Amino acid sequence: MNKKGNIIIIVAPSGTGKSTLIKSLKEDFRELHWSVSFTTRPMREGELDGKHYFFISRDEFIKKKDQGAYIEWAEVHGNFYGTSKGFVETKVNHGFSLLFDLDIQGADNMKAEFGDDAKCIFIVPPSIEELEKRLRGRGTDSDEVIKLRLENATKEIKRKDDYDFFVVNEDIDTAYKDLAGIVKGLLEA
Ligand code: ADP
Ligand code: 5GP
Repeated sequence: MNKKGNIIIIVAPSGTGKSTLIKSLKEDFRELHWSVSFTTRPMREGELDGKHYFFISRDEFIKKKDQGAYIEWAEVHGNFYGTSKGFVETKVNHGFSLLFDLDIQGADNMKAEFGDDAKCIFIVPPSIEELEKRLRGRGTDSDEVIKLRLENATKEIKRKDDYDFFVVNEDIDTAYKDLAGIVKGLLEA
């Protein structure tokens, strides 16, 4: 196979609905291979090692980083996250398309590495007020964490035009239709 695979990155401020949308993408686009990241964050209930993330210690993470094992890595909300260089290069060179869930630093670093071969889709909340409602409604974060995530979101939203596409997640069905249309277009290009 001569054609290289697509690199599709979904990025969004925390609480926007990225995980919800990605879950549907994974179900509908079986041809997309999912990049499982390495993280030092503790495993949450219901998560599986090797499926949601490879859960490793900070020492192991740093050792792998020093060995050049990550194509990008970042500290997000106090934990390290990294994308396997070997996995990405092998899949892309064999013509497989990859789907990534990265924070904004990861998206920027992948753009620096792959340029126009990496396509970033930014998911935007309809407003900061609605984002706060979603974060509170999800019930997974303390007031302090929510405050920090809203501050970060305000900065991140200003960068929405820096990416290849953006989708506003107001109504989930409309947002998913828009997102799926973009992904379909990229896979067919
Ligand atoms: P993220 O992965 O971006 O942090 P989630 O997918 O966990 O966000 O969504 C945050 C919360 O908002 C969840 O409780 C989710 O069910 C809810 N949510 C997602 N999209 C919408 C939407 N369009 N309208 C209302 N609630 C939504
Ligand atoms: P969570 O801990 O909620 O699963 O993810 C927190 C944040 O880390 C999300 O914004 C997610 O996109 C990001 N993230 C997950 N894996 C990686 C990765 O490998 N690299 C980078 N840069 N960010 C990641």
